[in-house]
Amino acid sequence: MAEHRPVPEVDRAAAARRAVERRRARASLKRDLTMRVVTPQTVLARAVADAESVEGSMRITDFLLALPAIGAGKRDRILQELQISPVKRLGGLGVRQRTVLAEWLDGRFPLTEPRGARSRLLVLAGPTAVGKGTVAAYIREHNPEIHLSVSATTRAPRPGEVDGVHYYFVDDAEFDRLIAEGELLEYAVVHNRSRYGTPRAPIDAALAEGKTVLLEIDLQGARQVRAAEPSATLIFLLPPTWDELVHRLVGRGTEDAEERARRLRTAKVELAAQNEFDHLIVNEDVASAAAEVVELSSSSAH
Ligand code: 5GP
Repeated sequence: MAEHRPVPEVDRAAAARRAVERRRARASLKRDLTMRVVTPQTVLARAVADAESVEGSMRITDFLLALPAIGAGKRDRILQELQISPVKRLGGLGVRQRTVLAEWLDGRFPLTEPRGARSRLLVLAGPTAVGKGTVAAYIREHNPEIHLSVSATTRAPRPGEVDGVHYYFVDDAEFDRLIAEGELLEYAVVHNRSRYGTPRAPIDAALAEGKTVLLEIDLQGARQVRAAEPSATLIFLLPPTWDELVHRLVGRGTEDAEERARRLRTAKVELAAQNEFDHLIVNEDVASAAAEVVELSSSSAH
């Protein structure tokens, strides 16, 4: 009989695949929240905009549990306090529930306030393997009007790297001399291995000429620049997702397992520093991330 015909095999397979994809997307979203690749406010806004989205289909209990430093006990107290039923999904919250949840999130996870126009000294930082170097290289190629700082480093050149273009490759003695003579705006040991530092003189010269200067450095360096030049514009580059960041780290294939694990731990700590920055840019694709950086440089020029 026609009405009892079983669901065709192919439909069932497709539905199962969709369910798996959906579960994967939800798991990935949870990791993004935990690792602070996405703000909880953004996830709530997406859920409200589209109840059918991955965000919309997320249970409020899973959402809260994925947030940094919230365990099951705290989660249940929060739900009670906000008078939200634990069976709710984010996309199914009522207007009152959305409002109280949004207010609670803003109190608990304050967003970076855009600080408006700052100086022409831009610092691009972010977690390991997020693609800062690629974005900086793109800007060097497409925006010659921006002065890209060339760092000094004690690490050996990689194939294709040119002394004076990508880095000034120096030995330990020369790096010591640069520090002693006060020639570096900032310097740091990166990945427990080599030393990197920003020569001060070329930056002062470029700024004096009225140019915008871009530094692509690590987090420790960014903090030093903030201390030395409080008006510097600090930009934090975010990966589109945590999974993508992990993929980029592993995909390089140049580090062993122990080194990879260490870099992931570092990346997690680094992501937690994003609130110290003036602007967050998501590195969805290199050209648009670079365009956003350039946009900041032109808006902060006046
Ligand atoms: P790589 O060795 O892969 O070129 O760079 C490793 C890391 O060093 C990157 O995260 C890069 O941002 C950072 N770095 C490059 N130049 C400097 C610098 O002058 N100062 C600091 N603090 N970090 C730098």
